[in-house]
Amino acid sequence: MAEDDFIYWNDILEDYRNGRSENKKCPFCYEGDVIFSKRDRVTRAACLKCGHFIEGRFSDDDVADA
Ligand SMILES: [Zn+2]
Repeated sequence: MAEDDFIYWNDILEDYRNGRSENKKCPFCYEGDVIFSKRDRVTRAACLKCGHFIEGRFSDDDVADA
């Protein structure tokens, strides 16, 4: 994951941490819907249109548990 990418995703991840994961638009193409999925404690946010994605432990619970 590139450091620059994280900056783009940061607002969306912040909202996700605050329980708002609906109706997010991709920070790269501004058109695709962002979907969140979880595997174990790793959350993945991905654009349905351009394919940009980011993975990591984003929710406070996951980080605290890590
Ligand atoms: Zn996109």
